[in-house]
Amino acid sequence: MAIKYTPEPFRIKMVETIKMLSSEERVARIKEAKYNLFSLRSDDVYIDLLTDSGTNAMSQDQWAGVMIGDEAYAGGRSYFRVLEAGQDIFGYKFIQPVHQGRAAEKVIYSLLLEKGKYSISNMHFDTTRAHVELAGGRAIDCNIKEAEDPKIRIPFKGNMDNKKLEALINEHGAKNIGVVITTITNNSAGGQPVSIANIKETSEICKKHGIKLCIDAARFAENAYFIKHREEGYANKSIKEIIREVFSYADYFTLSAKKDAIINMGGLVGVKDDAEFFQLCKGNTISYEGFITYGGLSGRDLEALAIGLNEGVNEDFLKYRIGQVEYLASLLDDAGIIYQSPAGGHGVFIDARSMFPHIPYNEFPAQALAIELYKEAGIRTCDIGSYMLGNDPDTGEQLKSTFEFTRFAIPRRVYTQAHFDIMAEALIAIKKRAGQVKGYKILWEPPVLRHFQAHLQPL
Ligand SMILES: *Cc1c(COP(=O)(O)O)cnc(C)c1O
Repeated sequence: MAIKYTPEPFRIKMVETIKMLSSEERVARIKEAKYNLFSLRSDDVYIDLLTDSGTNAMSQDQWAGVMIGDEAYAGGRSYFRVLEAGQDIFGYKFIQPVHQGRAAEKVIYSLLLEKGKYSISNMHFDTTRAHVELAGGRAIDCNIKEAEDPKIRIPFKGNMDNKKLEALINEHGAKNIGVVITTITNNSAGGQPVSIANIKETSEICKKHGIKLCIDAARFAENAYFIKHREEGYANKSIKEIIREVFSYADYFTLSAKKDAIINMGGLVGVKDDAEFFQLCKGNTISYEGFITYGGLSGRDLEALAIGLNEGVNEDFLKYRIGQVEYLASLLDDAGIIYQSPAGGHGVFIDARSMFPHIPYNEFPAQALAIELYKEAGIRTCDIGSYMLGNDPDTGEQLKSTFEFTRFAIPRRVYTQAHFDIMAEALIAIKKRAGQVKGYKILWEPPVLRHFQAHLQPL
């Protein structure tokens, strides 16, 4: 039985019109886009679930903040607001704004990694992996095995495999591990949370070996909400108390504020107490981003960020946010549609392999499902599977992904219950005709990150 939808803790005072094209028009548009959803115009999309990054709706307080942002080059008032909010929420002494998450990664990982050094994570997000490699390092994923089976329901499926972590440190030598990264929530595994117990244990292992622990904090508030509701001993703690405890176990964090800070652009670097290291971060920020008191952002963005950081940790908001995702998941349970379960924080990741068992990995089942969803109901999602993974750089052979997920990423404060019903109805309709859906082949692809630009053709 579907669970009850958690009502919005807000009312709507500004709207953006969206239109639904006819079925014939959608079939024509996706063909014109060469079956690549990134090539669609957003005006031709009815429900856009491509990402929850930077697609959130700001509040009236944030828009009011936009008007009073201080655009001074140096020492702007809005910069100090961000510092205050960041220091208060995370309990870190040093906070540096940057323009988005990957900018934070560039600032910090270029200081921690070099050729011959490794980064170990519960799962590297793709930009994180890219910046580890750009710095000369190598990235090793160290997730618990359960994360790889969509049907196994455990409360903290995003956890680090700490036994394996210690074995990897011993294998490569502690001096060759540049950093250990815990990603909260574990985005690539389906927005799955990481427990405090797990982070604490990772932290102890790092301390024992003299290795720095960095939190990739994009969904720090959603992760705290899951800890409060799933981990013993945290039910009566506030979200802020939980966040502070989580971050107390790490040395640094990088944060894409386009997620849980509910803004359209922004990011942060956090350093707990190492003033010398923070000085190096400031130097990189000036080179890559701009002067330290604006970090690649406008003053108005900084103002909205400071407000959004506090709105994002509001418990009524988080209850509604996670409730929305759980509502969609419960509709899918009723329909027997398999997804990475339990549902993650920022979306539902549909297991396209079980929807289309007749489509092999090299004919891209998750991309096929994404295309069907657009044709069926104007919904835009994306492939997190072999299509996204690409080819082996040495052999040119198509790689086989652990997952074939079609991701429904849910923007914050944007869609209502009726939209969620449409998402479930579209999936149910596709499931009924699943046997007729065909795979795809690639006609053209660029050498890296091909999924953004490739041209496809139905088989
Ligand atoms: C989005 C994201 C990033 C990168 O942030 P951008 O703001 O897109 O540059 C890094 N790590 C995780 C876990 C993310 O979700």
